[in-house]
Amino acid sequence: EVILEGIVKNYGTFRALKGIDLRIAPGEFFALLGPSGSGKSTTLRVIAGLEVPDAGRMLVDGTEMTFAPPGERNVAMVFQNYALYPHMTLEQNIGFPLKMDGVPKAEIAARVQDAARKVRIDHLLARRPGQLSGGQQQRTALARAIVREPRLFLLDEPLSNLDAQLRLETRIELKRLHASLGVTTIYVTHDQEEAMTIADRMAVFRDGEIMQIGAPAEVFGRPDTLDVAAFIGSPP
Ligand code: ATP
Ligand code: MG
Repeated sequence: EVILEGIVKNYGTFRALKGIDLRIAPGEFFALLGPSGSGKSTTLRVIAGLEVPDAGRMLVDGTEMTFAPPGERNVAMVFQNYALYPHMTLEQNIGFPLKMDGVPKAEIAARVQDAARKVRIDHLLARRPGQLSGGQQQRTALARAIVREPRLFLLDEPLSNLDAQLRLETRIELKRLHASLGVTTIYVTHDQEEAMTIADRMAVFRDGEIMQIGAPAEVFGRPDTLDVAAFIGSPP
């Protein structure tokens, strides 16, 4: 279980997060939805330990993690630009986090195979990122994230570089991957339809605050405010 309590984040005099409260259950697929600049990525970065909050705290399975360094959080994060290493093969890209952890070579090879098979790119392991389609690069980034068997999977608009058809396919693939891994997943998107179709529950952000939390059908069917209704596009 991931708990955020009163998380505040300032950039200079600008308050990007104004007190975020969230409770995400183990194994849940949870979406952070909201317009550009509403604080979704900042929240994800606080959870990953890439930003230190100015107030509030974060608990993971009952342990306070607010100030734990990223390397001690057992989280994997995938960004929209994938950030693969262009000079390395896919096999080296996916195995890189394990190499950094000092995992023995034979074990790395086996775990890379396994992760690559889960996202269906095991036939491409000898290639470099430049020799792949956008969707294949995106799968490589996913494989590199799951290879460490993280406790928390953080995805920041991972499909935004893909065309509509590929977005749809990869969305289904992500759901399948989540079902097979069972890992708690927090998924940032500004796409209402994407959040509705992929998430167990979601939080709707606006201006550094959460306006509503609930299952997609609840948020869509009973928006708490006109702002939520307008953003979600549900009927008045
Ligand atoms: P998008 O959908 O465009 O990615 P977002 O909801 O992820 O938006 P954040 O990246 O969390 O938004 O940013 C929230 C606010 O904080 C924005 O107004 C942004 O300009 C500001 N912000 C984010 N990072 C910084 C930074 N390093 N320095 C100053 N301001 C920042
Ligand atoms: Mg963002």
